[in-house]
Amino acid sequence: MIDTSLMKNKKGLVMGVANDRSIAWAIAKTLYNSGAKVALTYQGEVLKKRVDPLAKEINSPIILECDVENENDILKTFKEIKKKWKTIDFLVHAIAFSNREELKGKYLNTTKDNFKKTMDVSCYSFTAAARQAEKIMTNGGTLLTLSYFGSEKFMPHYNVMGIAKSALEASVKYLAKDLGGKKIRVNVLSPGPIKTLASSAIGDFHYILKWNENNSPLKRNITLDDISGSALYLLSDLSSGVTGEIHHVDSGYNIIGMKDTDSPDIFEEK
Ligand code: NAD
Repeated sequence: MIDTSLMKNKKGLVMGVANDRSIAWAIAKTLYNSGAKVALTYQGEVLKKRVDPLAKEINSPIILECDVENENDILKTFKEIKKKWKTIDFLVHAIAFSNREELKGKYLNTTKDNFKKTMDVSCYSFTAAARQAEKIMTNGGTLLTLSYFGSEKFMPHYNVMGIAKSALEASVKYLAKDLGGKKIRVNVLSPGPIKTLASSAIGDFHYILKWNENNSPLKRNITLDDISGSALYLLSDLSSGVTGEIHHVDSGYNIIGMKDTDSPDIFEEK
């Protein structure tokens, strides 16, 4: 049961809704159901028709286009929000991109162009948004981004995205220190695999899901509710003493060193 007053009087921005399967959408809805006012940004015109009806569902008063590759878009977004709200209390960054051709096979074959683009969209954009958010978090606040265990250990096909997520997690620690004095907390959620638009680009994703289900301590894959519940904790005052934290929401998969002997082997036709 969600406490409908946990986020009362709080307002903020969720970046990265593409459709109703997006992690950003699950978090936005949970924040709204907990009493928050939620502004949304989406990547480009193509996504607008998907995001508009979702924004209506949560009475979102601010919906803006923001392609994070364009620093001007980021500046404009926070300017608009400041105009309407003056201050915000939270920012959620649920954005990542890499060329799907490079999310299969070996990391060794990463191209320079895709390396730079992956780092820019999936890592740097969080820092760029944090810099603007700081200016309108005059009463303190919380920043949250999304990572994946492929930042810590080798994961098949995750490749350059693993490198970008490592850098993103390091950014979280540096930002937590830089912003701590202003009572701004910075954390990162690391969910297990879940089917979304972005994850559909990762090679053998079906196999990865099955493997996680078979081998995690909870013996199941995570749900959007699992993720948004943890996000709510990190974005609310419940986690008032937590910053710079990498919080796994993965049915405990990250503590496993080896598949259990009674866990099934998986064979899939390629
Ligand atoms: P999603 O496809 O729903 O969301 C990814 C979002 O990134 C989309 O809204 C897309 O428009 C946005 N985006 C990409 N390039 C952009 C740009 N240039 N400017 C603005 N927005 C841009 O998929 P998701 O799985 O909900 O991904 C959200 C976050 O969760 C990502 O950081 C992803 O790496 C992370 N994550 C996902 C999983 C998973 O298994 N799905 C697991 C762990 C972490």
